[in-house]
This record gives sequence, structure tokens and C-alpha cells, in this order.
Amino acid sequence: MTSFAPVQNPRTVEALVAGRATRDGAGVRLTRVLTGELQQRLDPFLMLDQFGSNDPKDYGAGFPDHPHRGFETVTYMIAGRMRHRDSAGHEGLLQNGGVQWMTAGRGLVHSEMPEQEEGLMEGFQLWLNLPSHQKMCTPWYRDIQSESIPEVHTEGGVLVRVISGQSHGVQGAMHRPAKDYPTDPLYLDIHFSADQTFTQNIPVSHNAFVYVYRGSLAVQSHQGADTVPLQRMAILSHGGDGVVLQAQAGTRALLISGQPLYEPIAQYGPFVMNTREELMQAVEDFQAGRLGQ
Ligand code: MN
Repeated sequence: MTSFAPVQNPRTVEALVAGRATRDGAGVRLTRVLTGELQQRLDPFLMLDQFGSNDPKDYGAGFPDHPHRGFETVTYMIAGRMRHRDSAGHEGLLQNGGVQWMTAGRGLVHSEMPEQEEGLMEGFQLWLNLPSHQKMCTPWYRDIQSESIPEVHTEGGVLVRVISGQSHGVQGAMHRPAKDYPTDPLYLDIHFSADQTFTQNIPVSHNAFVYVYRGSLAVQSHQGADTVPLQRMAILSHGGDGVVLQAQAGTRALLISGQPLYEPIAQYGPFVMNTREELMQAVEDFQAGRLGQ
């Protein structure tokens, strides 16, 4: 158990972001919530995609073999089943409520393919940057089944699934020392079951955002309350020591924060490095079949 303190200076909503409908992989329909132009503001986060559909035409083609280098991907399946395979021979099934945390490091080639022909497929993929000295680390991943994600029931009755970081004294499924993993990510899935208020400490130095995927909520602060509607990302203001969320039964939201890296971001599709030269090297290594060896 670790302690938590009352929030003295709750963050406000700086901006609401609607996300952009797009397709990726072999034509999977998704909403890109965190896009390239927000990478500086939401450093160390590079991308957030939401996918959610009952129609297999929207997801059936999946994400066939493709490379990554230089960052981490965190895939959270709300509903559905997705199988991943990579060039190192690893394979796993990600399903209802589970998370795959993958550190691409110096690179791999993998596929992420639906393992269902009908029904709902819903979830999120977050891209989390690596500091320059870890961009070429050995690739790594962990499949976290739903039952292995710690859950907190707060005194106020809110259910929190703690994927990473800590909430109300409970450590998340992923906990790594901040001295070794400086982005120190907090990743919570918050479920409201009545008119409830949820308070979360956030380090003052972190960038943070909330994404509402059921219902709607209010971000409460000394300035009042800001409503965050369904399927909107609220970028939280700089510098506060936490956030206070109020919502009705049925609302669900992700709360994500991390320590910015303040390093140059150079992206070319699935490669995120610090310089253009490093991107060119990544493309060359991929074309020469050197990723994932
Ligand atoms: Mn991928």
C-alpha cells in the first residue's frame, strides 16, 4: 500500500478534443483521439486510437505484419479478441478487459489480428514514447489478462481498474521504477455506478488527459466544473496535483498521465525516434529485414 493525499489544486480542462475518424492497418475503422499535433502538448504520449464496432467489415482485416521502433504500445481490449504474433516467434491472445504492453525498442515486426468473425470489438491503443537512451532497447512485451489487473473500489464507490501507476494505494498491473522508466505512466479505467466523485493524485510535472467512452463527466476544480461529453478527450491543465471527476451511473473514462521527456520527436509512421537520421536508419533496417531479428 502507498499513501495518497487530498488534491489541493485540481486540474481544469484546457481543451476538448473530438478525435478524427480514420482507417489503419488493413482498413480497420478507428478514431484517432491523440494525433500528431498533440504530441508535444501530451508528451510522452504519441497517439491514442479508439476502435469500437459491431460490424466485422470495420475490423475484420486487422493489422497484418508491420514494424515498430522507438516507443511502447499499450493495447487495452474492452471487448473482443485479438491475436498478436511477432517476428521473434511470440504469440498471445488479447481479450475482454486485458492489456498488452509492448516495448518495441530497437524494433520488431508483428501482426494484430481479430480472432472473431462477429460481435463487438472495442478497445484502445496508446503509444507511449521511450527516452532516447531506451529507444534501441531489446523488444519486450507482456500480456496482462483481465483478472490480473488490480481493481480499487474507492470509498465513494467508484471502481478503478489500475493498468499502470497507482490509485488510492493500489499498484497497477504494470509498475516499473520511475528511475528506470522515466515516463512513469498512470493508466486508469474508471467506472462510475451512481452519482459519484473520484479523486486522483497526479504528479505536478505530468501531462494528463481524460477520455470518456461511456456517458459523460465533469472535471471539478476551484474554477467550477467543466463537462466532458462522450467520446471526447479532455486535455488537463498543467501543474495541478490531481483531478476530481464527477459522473453518473454508467460513465466510464480513461485517465492517463505521464512525465514528459522534453526530447525531439521524429516520427515516420510506425517509427518514433529523435532525429531524421534515426528514422532513415529505421526504414533501412526494416527494408533490409533487420527489424525483429
Ligand atoms: Mn502494431
